[in-house]
Amino acid sequence: MVYIREGAQHGRGVFAAAFVPAGTTLMTFKGPLLRSTEVDFEDYHLQIGEDLYLGPSGDVDDFVNHSCAPNAGFAEGLTLKALRDIGPHEEITWDYSCAIDEADFVGFPCACGSAQCRGVVRSFRDLDPEVRERLRPWALPYLRDRYR
Ligand SMILES: [Zn+2]
Repeated sequence: MVYIREGAQHGRGVFAAAFVPAGTTLMTFKGPLLRSTEVDFEDYHLQIGEDLYLGPSGDVDDFVNHSCAPNAGFAEGLTLKALRDIGPHEEITWDYSCAIDEADFVGFPCACGSAQCRGVVRSFRDLDPEVRERLRPWALPYLRDRYR
């Protein structure tokens, strides 16, 4: 359903192999469970809890890029679903602020190019309240109830 290739915008990414209807399950993120002290922050990692991360799985889930206007999000746990219809060979993206929530995270610059681009990818806790409300349904479960 998806494949990895070098994209024009931000290097390697994951793309739809064919038309994907809204609501389709795209992939489930996996990888070794790590505490922050065990994470190689230079390598792929996904925060999934207060002090809990997934390390690289070596599979497609390691290569999905961020967008401030993503076409995929976490609907059930670590399962990524299509938020809308996705065209053939369109890049699959999710909003990294739906997973990151580190107290000391300074963020990183975003050049996703969307009209809604926030300029910097920040922790969920550091988002403007209205942005957080918009992202909440697609955020990881550990974040949904934490900041109400
Ligand atoms: Zn952006």
